[in-house]
Amino acid sequence: MPTIVVLGAGVSGLTCALELARQGGNDITVVAKHMPGDYDVEYTSPWAGANVLPMALDRDSCWERRTWPVLRRLAKEAPEAGLHFQTARVLRREKDVASGAKAALADGLFLQDPWYRELMDDFRELPRSELPRGIHSGCEFTSVCINTAVYLPWLVGQCAKLGVRFKRGVLRHISEARGMSLHRSSHGHQADVVINCSGLLACRLGGVMDSKTYPARGQIVVVRNEAKGFMPTTSGTDDGEDEITYVMQRALGGGTVLGGTYAKHNWDGNPDPNIAVRIMKRAVEAHPELTGGKGIEALSVIRHGVGLRPYREGGVRIEKERIDGTWVVHNYGHAGWGYQGSYGCAERVVELVDEILKHEKRSSKL
Ligand code: FAD
Repeated sequence: MPTIVVLGAGVSGLTCALELARQGGNDITVVAKHMPGDYDVEYTSPWAGANVLPMALDRDSCWERRTWPVLRRLAKEAPEAGLHFQTARVLRREKDVASGAKAALADGLFLQDPWYRELMDDFRELPRSELPRGIHSGCEFTSVCINTAVYLPWLVGQCAKLGVRFKRGVLRHISEARGMSLHRSSHGHQADVVINCSGLLACRLGGVMDSKTYPARGQIVVVRNEAKGFMPTTSGTDDGEDEITYVMQRALGGGTVLGGTYAKHNWDGNPDPNIAVRIMKRAVEAHPELTGGKGIEALSVIRHGVGLRPYREGGVRIEKERIDGTWVVHNYGHAGWGYQGSYGCAERVVELVDEILKHEKRSSKL
């Protein structure tokens, strides 16, 4: 039976472990410094909203295209996974359109004629009469919001049910993963393949040291107040290029996430109180019902937080590589779309593992 070690227990590592386990016939161990339940700035997944707002350009959209049907099915059929349907609203501000704010409007999410209009259910352009003040144009569609505090442990549970084992470990070099399998036999067993889902820390992991990977810092505020109806996001803010606006209410009492920021190269793990005030002000402006028109003083804060998105210049890295004699399949660098692309990426990882195992089988017969 092929032995596989998955490095990383964020949404990328857990989804890969699950898809490899579902395939059957693999012995899988997940090894990680951080596991669901931990909150640490080095561990991105718990900090995400998370919702589905497709952001790739058409040419790179395969990961999100393949993932959406799975997340939609989970929202419909598996309430215990912590996803629920919410209406997403994508709003292009008049100011951004007039000034040709390239950075904001170049994102696949804000395209005037987006590829995802065919993918997302109930997609519709908003008529002028429904546009808030200062908004040039926008669209609406059915999406999901994921309560990450429920979803990540749910993934662990699904994996455990299929025999995946879990082990804490801190690796200095990717090749150490090979010897960390908790294989069914009590003797040590070298892994045939290692899956590298180390997220942002791929930039510091020996044997990988990817200098194209760095953080895009995201600060959030999680509140008890409820945002009714929809999840809005705008193409820009008046508070600087690193700041963005979004609001989403998590399923199963997970609170409402107010965001945010997108600050590249910023490693600061501490919430900045000035930024927090700006986030709350923008959220209450977009969703006055959050505080019944009373302003930010009426927000009941559960937590201020910071997560570091694993940004990678040139995009996600999903490929196989032989490092010091060990086959490694990389799957890291998902920036702000790790959940909404998770199953698509995991599917590709499974394909690459199959290629490696077939190749090894052929070579051993020669
Ligand atoms: P991580 O979650 O960081 O996991 C990495 C794992 O690797 C951890 O278990 C870590 O311990 C382990 N690891 C790394 N190096 C080592 C080592 N040397 N030894 C042992 N273990 C190691 N995405 C969406 O799809 N939708 C959203 O709405 C969304 N909103 C976001 C909002 C914010 C504020 C932030 C910060 C992110 C958001 N994202 C969203 C992005 C998403 O959270 C990330 O893309 C995703 O979590 C990355 O997951 P990952 O598994 O690759 O990395």
